[in-house]
Amino acid sequence: MPQVQHEDVRRWRSRFPPEMDRDYPMLIDGAQVVGDDGSGFAMVDPYEDTAWGRAYRGTAMHVDRAVAAARRALEEGEWARATPADRSRLLRALADLVDRNATELTFAQIHENGKLIGEMSAGVAGLAMHARYVADLVDSRHDVPVDTGMPKLSATLTHGPVGVVAAVTPWNSPLTLLAWKLLPALGAGCTVVVKPSEVTPTSTLLLAQLCLEAGYPPGVVNVVTGFGTPTAQHLVEHPGVDKIAFTGSTRTGQTVMQAAAGGLKRLTLELGGKSPQIVLKDCDLDRTVHGVMSGVFAATGQTCLAGSRVIVEDAIYDDFVARLGAAASALTMGDPLDPGVDVGPLANRRQLATVLEYIEVGRAEGAVVAAGGRRAAGTPELERGYFVEPTVFADVNPCTRISREEIFGPVVTVSRCASEAEAVAMANDTEFGLAAGVWTEDAQAAARVTERVRAGTVWVNTYRVVHYAVPFGGVGMSGLGRELGADALAAYSEVKSVWTDHGNPQTFGRGQGT
Ligand code: NAD
Repeated sequence: MPQVQHEDVRRWRSRFPPEMDRDYPMLIDGAQVVGDDGSGFAMVDPYEDTAWGRAYRGTAMHVDRAVAAARRALEEGEWARATPADRSRLLRALADLVDRNATELTFAQIHENGKLIGEMSAGVAGLAMHARYVADLVDSRHDVPVDTGMPKLSATLTHGPVGVVAAVTPWNSPLTLLAWKLLPALGAGCTVVVKPSEVTPTSTLLLAQLCLEAGYPPGVVNVVTGFGTPTAQHLVEHPGVDKIAFTGSTRTGQTVMQAAAGGLKRLTLELGGKSPQIVLKDCDLDRTVHGVMSGVFAATGQTCLAGSRVIVEDAIYDDFVARLGAAASALTMGDPLDPGVDVGPLANRRQLATVLEYIEVGRAEGAVVAAGGRRAAGTPELERGYFVEPTVFADVNPCTRISREEIFGPVVTVSRCASEAEAVAMANDTEFGLAAGVWTEDAQAAARVTERVRAGTVWVNTYRVVHYAVPFGGVGMSGLGRELGADALAAYSEVKSVWTDHGNPQTFGRGQGT
């Protein structure tokens, strides 16, 4: 599995090579398309606080062209005729190209959002493995005969592509979250129009170019860059789109759901969270403190599944808070290209402002700052980049905003509970339901909590493990549907039930019609 090597890091440390600082045209129908005059916008490196490459604000006209190209590729030409074997071969070719271009794909993302090199390079390696996994799913999928017991009548289920897919993605893991949509869509035979986050368009454009290089015909993968409105809004409302696969905030997800209603578009929503980590009194405290901490501060807290709401049993509460505060204060902040750094910058200025505002809200709500609580300082790099100290709020009232709203930054709340039952009730007292963790050495307690906690994913004595073979998604306001796993192709397919008569006399009104 080719990964980013230390020589690559040294080469890029200078920091990013000048060839990154260029224009990034959109990709529509296999051609690079620049936006209208004056529609360029800059990407900003959150560690250096400097603008580098430019992308374009796509207009309604660009979206129309991309959707039309996707429709043509779906209905006529090479891709429309591609067999499952062709589709799995292309996925494997893409996987090989991703491996060969791992350095560029990794560094483009770090340049865009400042996430740590370890996580970003593992994500790119995982993308290639994911593509091969989807290729295997395509190879193993066949038409399914159904035994109805009806004489001389057969029923068979076939799977066709759902059609033109609009994939709208956020900035926190641009390529991984795109892969969760793009790979099964391509495996199922769909065509795709991607609208990446305005913060992270370049990595998506690089991946789309690799799709062309791998042999996907023009129009199969298109990328229209730009902002939510008008670009993404026009895309999700477009009557030529059959399915929307969206990852982003809950508020935007609600808008997307309304847009889907008009055309009854198929819809997958991966939205926000405020995931609880339940710490029971019989946990292994050292392991738990470390695990809880990485469950929230990894990725600088900018992850939908951040375990940012910790609920701790009374008996160990004070000890836990003291240890978590000390451990959070010892984390190293700095250059995301440095493999020794624990916490990188926030991805953009807006997120920096949001997180600092929430910290002030927490103080005003009466929570106790047990660690952090400020914008980072002390070195020119920390003061220049968008760094916030890993922050632990203790004695948090579960009714307050910092305990109920998604902060999407390095901020964790710790609240006290009297029992396992109260912990579960507090964990479930949320509109979200993306993920949860439970820390205990008692297997039966773990099983009880796992069963009762309301979330799409539950981790026991670990946190934040995700794998392409394991479904991921939320309940409640955290989303709709699942991505990943063996059923991933189903979300991009329409089942067709085919009935064939093998010689019955044709009589009127036979069978059990509705
Ligand atoms: P966001 O909702 O602001 O933007 C997400 C995408 O939607 C962007 O591409 C944006 O341009 C687009 N968009 C904005 N307005 C739109 C509109 N009216 N119609 C259609 N699209 C529109 O989210 P973000 O700030 O980029 O990402 C952070 C959010 O994403 C957090 O809430 C996080 O929890 C969530 N997230 C969820 C998951 C998951 O798997 N559940 C994963 C990662 C991030």
